[in-house]
Amino acid sequence: MSGIRLEPRASATRKWIFPLLALSVLFPQLGEAADGITFFKNYFVTGDYVAGSVDLLPQQAVAGRVAGDIPMSGVPAGADILAAFLYWETITNGELTTEDLTALGPKFRDHAIGPFAVKVGQSTLNASTSSCWAKQGSATAVVSTWRVDVLRFLPIGNDATKPTYHKRLVNSLDLTAPHRVELPDSGNGNQFPESAGASLVVIYRHSDSPLTGIVLYEGFNHTPSTATMSQTLRGFFERAPGAVGRLTQHVGSGQPNASEQVSFNGALLQPPVVNPFNSSPSSQRGWRAFTLTGLNMDGAGETSTFGEEVTTAVTHTDSSEECLAWSAFQFSVPVRDEDRDGLLNVWESEDVASLQDPDGTPLPNLWAMRARPNVQDIFIEVGFMTAPSGTKYGALPAEACGSGCVQTTADHKHLPDKDALFLVATAFRNAYSPRPGVTGPVNPINIHFDVGNKYLTEYQIALPNDQTCLTGTWVPSCAIIPASLARGGEAIPETACPTGVTCAFPKHPGTVSWKTGYRLYRDQPLNYTTEEACGLADDCIRRFDRNRRYTFRYALFAHALGIASSTDPSTPVRTSGIADLPGGDLMVTLGRWDDFTGSTFMQASTLMHEFGHSSGLRHGGILGQPNCKPNYLTVMNYLFQARGLFTVSGTGASDPIVDYSRQELSQLQETSLNETNGLGAMAYTTRWYAPWNNSFIDKDLNTSPATKHCDGSPLSAAELAGALDPLDPTFGALAMARVDGTTMLGPIDWSADGAISTANQDISFSGSKTTLGQGVNDWATLDLRQVGSRRNVAAHNSLGVTQGPLSLAFGIEDVIGIEDVIGIEDLIGIEDVIGNDGSGIEDVIGIEDVIGIEDLIGAGDGGLGPQGLGDLPIDPQTGPNPPPKGDLNLETAIAFGNAPHIQKGVFLKQPNRVELTVKRPHAGKTISFETYRVEGGLPMTAARLAQKVHVGTPWPFPAGTTPTVTIVDNNAQPNKQYTYFVLAIMENPDNPSDPIRSGISPFRVVNTK
Ligand SMILES: [Zn+2]
Ligand SMILES: [Zn+2]
Repeated sequence: MSGIRLEPRASATRKWIFPLLALSVLFPQLGEAADGITFFKNYFVTGDYVAGSVDLLPQQAVAGRVAGDIPMSGVPAGADILAAFLYWETITNGELTTEDLTALGPKFRDHAIGPFAVKVGQSTLNASTSSCWAKQGSATAVVSTWRVDVLRFLPIGNDATKPTYHKRLVNSLDLTAPHRVELPDSGNGNQFPESAGASLVVIYRHSDSPLTGIVLYEGFNHTPSTATMSQTLRGFFERAPGAVGRLTQHVGSGQPNASEQVSFNGALLQPPVVNPFNSSPSSQRGWRAFTLTGLNMDGAGETSTFGEEVTTAVTHTDSSEECLAWSAFQFSVPVRDEDRDGLLNVWESEDVASLQDPDGTPLPNLWAMRARPNVQDIFIEVGFMTAPSGTKYGALPAEACGSGCVQTTADHKHLPDKDALFLVATAFRNAYSPRPGVTGPVNPINIHFDVGNKYLTEYQIALPNDQTCLTGTWVPSCAIIPASLARGGEAIPETACPTGVTCAFPKHPGTVSWKTGYRLYRDQPLNYTTEEACGLADDCIRRFDRNRRYTFRYALFAHALGIASSTDPSTPVRTSGIADLPGGDLMVTLGRWDDFTGSTFMQASTLMHEFGHSSGLRHGGILGQPNCKPNYLTVMNYLFQARGLFTVSGTGASDPIVDYSRQELSQLQETSLNETNGLGAMAYTTRWYAPWNNSFIDKDLNTSPATKHCDGSPLSAAELAGALDPLDPTFGALAMARVDGTTMLGPIDWSADGAISTANQDISFSGSKTTLGQGVNDWATLDLRQVGSRRNVAAHNSLGVTQGPLSLAFGIEDVIGIEDVIGIEDLIGIEDVIGNDGSGIEDVIGIEDVIGIEDLIGAGDGGLGPQGLGDLPIDPQTGPNPPPKGDLNLETAIAFGNAPHIQKGVFLKQPNRVELTVKRPHAGKTISFETYRVEGGLPMTAARLAQKVHVGTPWPFPAGTTPTVTIVDNNAQPNKQYTYFVLAIMENPDNPSDPIRSGISPFRVVNTK
């Protein structure tokens, strides 16, 4: 048996790759006696793999190639394709380099694949084994096996009526053109070159599938027919009870032989499979992807280092040599994750301490971080950007900060406030239950944040011990991972455009594109200054450890998201964040919100909102439901992301918190709203839109009507004309006001006119009246098992053109796949940056900004897509089409009529006064507050509102920058009942000279006695 792995493609423009070839650790040298099949990748996804193959039969060669179509089936409808690899075997006269291969012009789906091909194995053929290879007896024959990442060459479904819409297409039935491969071949089995056939292996994700471990092995293994081929496959760690396995062998064959016997875990298959590796009916080599399903796992082995493992073997009863050669194996089996948090039981047990990936990398010790197999746990590594005082946004560093530019006067950090993390941790601790995977009335979800040692240096808190957090009284700081176990919390300097590089947003440091830019920060080397130095080192540390790829989310708190604003292509949007839908990657980008970091509450709600996306939640809960449904009370809904959720009692409202929805409120028909019934009992108060002219409160207080639809989309020309006539001080009939509910039970005055009857209005302010489907219980829907299914979206090829995603989410880290570096770096032109500037970290920043060039030509990565629907069709000139879109932006948050909140109202004597603790709106810059008092309690009526008096000195009250202010009513009389409320005058980010009058706070009733 001889198997070797040779160098990846070397290209004249990528000289830095060459030193890698000397690295024998990565690339066993020619002639080394080793099992030629090695571990490539493992995935943990709610999905599986499918494999198909074509045997390239003798045929007339065209342009030195023969062609065949790979039939594919078995991908469930609506599945997301995460990865796709093409494997094949070619025999040539002498060694075949990537350049040689490229010159021979191999294709997949009419795309040239030579430049992207990775040689995964190779062997010279000697006389003893050459009788059934091509070119019998040639001493110079070499067989090589190849892999190409072909994910981006799979077509994208464009039929909106089908579940494959905006998904990569795999099944033959879904294709208009088959998966055609064209590989180098003379057309004659006894001439060079000869390609036996090809296999396509696809990894998919589907919400109906169990969490499954999928392991991929590859290389080259020829075992003579006199010997036993045996291959052990590991990296899935622990099967689910009763689960059965699926195994595929990709095999080239020299001649038919019916005597092969295939075994699994030491037992021969029953009934035996006859001639499983069929050969072409001539001297031509055959090829087959041979898949076994329903494999009983009882005989699986287990080691303390790698967990469970399986073995497959092939023997012959007739030892006539048939030159079987294996190129790849896949194995999958549903894995044991009884609490459905995406973390295998064994990873949450003490045994994890000794576990390693098949490449020898130890797994993170989740048990030490307080994960337990019967409690849902979530791990989030936090990274954040920083910028010093004097940073300019809107001007180059050397330029004066002029119109449209802001310059900071203090350092700022995007490290989330500890209270933001605590709000989120508390929400998960209070998760609704029962949920799928957990039973019983109370089942917390324990969230674990890795902020490195920043809780010591920045938060300046001590952490509770294990006993307190696991068996005692849980406190929010239990959510912080101790520094001894932490790997995250790195600060990343915001960087302007480096010299010599053209950037999309050169005047906006800290702008990160999704998802390529994000990935470069996530995977950036920390202890080596350049990518090539890191690749050469065996101790290179990257920001996000590769061994966390299926257990941790990575949350990057950056300054801005690299999508151009619609009004100024040189300025990034003010979008709050973006995330995998679903997956393990998310980004919070509040640098263009208030105070350059966003409020503590927005940090919390955006983190929880983006986490929700990463676990499959949408703005309407599920696919097909719109944003801004008043019957869906959750931070996933834009109505509540900025404002938060609160309860009301007799005297006022609770503090706003973050939460996912806890119930399925009934559907709402906007054309006939029943005000008497309302929504029944609700966990929180709701919010909605009403015609501004109907709302006695908004008319009385002259609040600003909404200037955008609730989902952020612009008003139509008709809506603008009918809503915001600047000459009409009362606003037009189409003007809409955002209204806060005052109860959690019973009637809801949808029309806000003070009477309970019926209503007919666009309460979700989508632009039309529709039926809003039943609300969704987020906690019961949340799918925590998606942490390992992070994937790439659009990427860029060497011409700087957006082309499509690669399969290798952690490409730069894939040791075997140094070619992955080429894969990724190709897409972003790293060689240009290294050519210009070898100074290390700046290179990566440079890359980041180079990516921005593609943003300029209209790209940015696919991200969520227009409705979070997945892959976007890529226009080779302009990038994703329609263009990608981020999440809630500041303009929309403010246009909601974002309101302040009275946290406390107390009557004090000597002198008599009422002190109100007023919290600023969570989004946007508050200029001042207007505070009012009405005698008596609730409910409020138009007649009583007309009697309001304004209070607070001075009036309006200046807002300041602290989260809360104290506003004092010095005219309060004893033995009265007063109802207070506050509205905020907000800066309009698009037009500072035209401030916005917010909606009102919830009422606060104060008894003075
Ligand atoms: Zn910043
Ligand atoms: Zn969102």
